[in-house]
Amino acid sequence: MIDLRSDTVTRPTAAMRRVMAEAEVGDDVYGEDPSINALEERVAGMFGHEAALFVPSGTMGNQIGMRLVCEPGQEVLCDADAHVVTYEMGAAAAIFGISTRTVVSGTPGRGQGRLDAQQLIDQVRPRDDWHLTATAAIAVENTHNRGGGIVQPLDELRSLWNWSREAGVAVHLDGARIWNAAVASGTELATYGRLADTASVCLSKGLGAPVGSVLVSSAERIATARLWRKRLGGGMRQAGVLAAAGLYALDHHLDRLAEDHEHAQLLAKRLGVDPSSVETNMVVLDDVAAPVIAEAAKAQGVLVSQVSARKIRLVTHLDVDRAAVDRAADVLAALL
Ligand SMILES: *Cc1c(COP(=O)(O)O)cnc(C)c1O
Repeated sequence: MIDLRSDTVTRPTAAMRRVMAEAEVGDDVYGEDPSINALEERVAGMFGHEAALFVPSGTMGNQIGMRLVCEPGQEVLCDADAHVVTYEMGAAAAIFGISTRTVVSGTPGRGQGRLDAQQLIDQVRPRDDWHLTATAAIAVENTHNRGGGIVQPLDELRSLWNWSREAGVAVHLDGARIWNAAVASGTELATYGRLADTASVCLSKGLGAPVGSVLVSSAERIATARLWRKRLGGGMRQAGVLAAAGLYALDHHLDRLAEDHEHAQLLAKRLGVDPSSVETNMVVLDDVAAPVIAEAAKAQGVLVSQVSARKIRLVTHLDVDRAAVDRAADVLAALL
């Protein structure tokens, strides 16, 4: 099977499994796992933040990250298609009493989810009003998943950040695929990191580690995040085996994301998708009979993701090499 459903499907490579097997470990709830500590220190540094916390999933990273900058009864403002309000099971409300408000940004099928700083700023509600739910934070997703892996424009991120400092509103970055954004745009990870108060980044998407995300922020906030992680049941013990996979991925799987992006371009060209709409490792096929194509492709050994009845998503990753991309393109082009 050539699995193009998501970049979460990657399996740890033989070399990654070896470093996992040999990882130095300790009890991370005591703060004594050397591999976890090394990973946290490294990721904090990469994003220009003081501290970091290893968490089991991107959902936990996002939700704790938002809770650090938003009190119960306040709201987080974000794009209507953001992962934090679409795919995290209402966690902000269900667990933290955080209200969310969304704005539709970009154009469906063309840069859907693209950040427009002023559009969000216009919707922010003040903290000192007796009637309004206060907007404590804005969440930004980069790259944008439902937008088809688009990279958020740096000038918009900058203007949001500069405005937020004056306004006293926090910025949370859902950076599950910030690595793809950095590789595609040539922007430093630290540049993105410094434009957010809290950021959650995933090791188990394009980087190919089996488990885990890292939340970065100030030392003070990360100390609080550690309490929340324990409350949520995310305090792990000898999790260094997982951190070792993450460290290995940062050494060996970061720069190669460019290859995934090239593969996505190839797929786009072969399938009649405008290559300029493909910014990272995702290709969206719009206006197709999604269930029919998905089923027929599966019968020929190609798995794709149905976003809706008329929309298919293809994601390139570590476990899909050039030959597999060519074969998937042959199968899908014939079906289309
Ligand atoms: C995958 C993803 C997450 C985290 O998801 P988990 O499955 O909880 O690890 C967060 N944000 C975006 C944009 C994602 O694609």
